[in-house]
Amino acid sequence: MSNTDPAKEKIRFRCTGCGVKLAAPHKHVGASIRCPKCKLSLTVPEASETGVVIEKMRADWSLARCPSCEEVTKVRAANRGIPVACPSCESEMIVSLE
Ligand SMILES: [Zn+2]
Ligand SMILES: [Zn+2]
Repeated sequence: MSNTDPAKEKIRFRCTGCGVKLAAPHKHVGASIRCPKCKLSLTVPEASETGVVIEKMRADWSLARCPSCEEVTKVRAANRGIPVACPSCESEMIVSLE
């Protein structure tokens, strides 16, 4: 059984609120669903999202510029709002995401 019917495959997408991975049957395209995690209401997209890896990178990492030495550092988005040490000059900076 190797012939997979794309119509029977689930649509995979990500919650725009919390980034959790979701899957819905094709018959639910355009339907409103609620994210089981953050309860945000979402519309099931017409096709599986591509570039999920890039989106995950964007969600998890942020670029921060050190105010002291102006070195740009990749910082975990989870660290936003809390002081992190600049790896270049070791002064503390607060990461903020736009
Ligand atoms: Zn969510
Ligand atoms: Zn620095």
